[in-house]
Amino acid sequence: MITKGLEVVSQNYIAGEWRSIQGEGQAVFNPSNTLEKIGEMYLSTAEDVLEAVAAAHAGFMIWKKKSGSEKSSYLYKMADALEQESEEVATLASKEMGKPIGEMLGEVMRGVNLLRFYAAEGVRPTGEVIPSTDADVLQYTKRVPLGVVGIITPWNFPVAIPIWKIAPALICGNSVVWKPAEHGVLTATFLMKVFEKANLPKGVLNLVIGKGSVVGQTLLEEAEIHAISFTGSTATGKNVASACAKRNIKYQTEMGGKNAAIVLNDANLEKTVPIILSGAFRSAGQKCTATSRIIVEKGIYPKFIAAVQEAMSAITVQEALNNQAYLGPVASKAQFDTVSEYTQLARKEGEIIAEGPLKTNQKGYYIQPLVVGGVSAKHRLVQEEIFGPVATVLQVDDVEEAIELCNDSLYGLSASIFTNNINKAMQFIDNVEVGMVRVNQETSGVEYQAPFGGMKWSSSHTREQGQAALDFYSQVKTCAIKHQF
Ligand code: NDP
Repeated sequence: MITKGLEVVSQNYIAGEWRSIQGEGQAVFNPSNTLEKIGEMYLSTAEDVLEAVAAAHAGFMIWKKKSGSEKSSYLYKMADALEQESEEVATLASKEMGKPIGEMLGEVMRGVNLLRFYAAEGVRPTGEVIPSTDADVLQYTKRVPLGVVGIITPWNFPVAIPIWKIAPALICGNSVVWKPAEHGVLTATFLMKVFEKANLPKGVLNLVIGKGSVVGQTLLEEAEIHAISFTGSTATGKNVASACAKRNIKYQTEMGGKNAAIVLNDANLEKTVPIILSGAFRSAGQKCTATSRIIVEKGIYPKFIAAVQEAMSAITVQEALNNQAYLGPVASKAQFDTVSEYTQLARKEGEIIAEGPLKTNQKGYYIQPLVVGGVSAKHRLVQEEIFGPVATVLQVDDVEEAIELCNDSLYGLSASIFTNNINKAMQFIDNVEVGMVRVNQETSGVEYQAPFGGMKWSSSHTREQGQAALDFYSQVKTCAIKHQF
């Protein structure tokens, strides 16, 4: 249905049917090898969005009447279908946005786990009994769905992020219109093909492919929807928040990060350095939770730098489908251009502490991983989200200064500390201004069943995943029944 030879063609899925998108197609190339065409993207109009939203309204009327266990069974089927097709989904996604296949398979399995986690929520309590002051009154709360939810997702986790929004939205009884990122449209189309196997009622889950400025903006401003969940850049997130606030619809925005890892004098470097490099360079640094600042106590600084230099020489930059790839290319030409500006800035104004290999034997969006020092805490490299394989190192006198620098950021998503000193670890946990606090762990890698989100400009102060997602995708009714009347 969606494959043309070996290529994938983007299509909309509206009211339970595949719809070809009119207009001229644009070739989609593999960022690991920009000579390889992997598919074609067609872009929807505002009318397509409004049609999908109308279908979602019809779907909602059916879906909201299903019992929790009925909704569960659909989500379990979605999980089973995804597990069966995990290799195909991961391969296409790796080809489309350049994440190494091993990591992408992990991402797909995270999607399977998320679907099963939320499927199980269908038979869990959805409210509580609150004793009334009147003995003849039963007072209780119940969660009800919001209605039609718009889901706008980025390209960096083209499988897991859509699922961590779609699965809780569905189990809470909402219908969905999903707009994936431009650099993830083929994966989105294929994922929907997989989910089609679960036979959800028509209109419950709809996919609209197209530009943020057209599809996203129509969802935000014109379409009759009841909520938006967005992940992406802070600039677009601000736009989402103000559009939703004007309409008084519920929204959540998960945005950028400038995550710090603190290394104290007592850290075990043999264990710490590989974890920090993994946080900084896996997925070519394109995670909102990637380690971007490394703050090192001065007593261990020389040893830390030497260990990083040695470890960087073992990092491999390869095409995404190569099992040996530590990191692949960045996802797109736009990413390549933006990140390259930062690497040029690092070479001009900073001091290169360590660099990984430069992949030159293939045409792709490869960036040489860099660890940079010699810049002040106010430098652009330390303050701005780079979203590429570049980490900056700062030296500090003690844990107090480390926490101060860690908090000296617009963002507050994730942060780590490496130490065996429980007092200092607790001091960090208590004083760091981030949503996800990690001790002796990567800044990335928060588990799927735990709340995900940040403070300050990293999010709209809501959380995703776990129980928090159920709070977002539902609203509470307080009910009181006088039974002796
Ligand atoms: P964007 O914020 O532009 O894109 C995220 C999503 O929002 C995409 O689906 C995009 O669609 C959509 N979108 C874009 N404009 C609008 C709009 N006006 N109204 C509604 N939706 C819109 O991020 P980019 O993909 O351009 O990436 C740029 C930078 O953002 C990265 O370099 C990184 O710094 C940051 N980023 C952060 C992420 C995170 O996980 N926190 C994820 C991705 C990016 P479309 O793709 O069609 O433009």
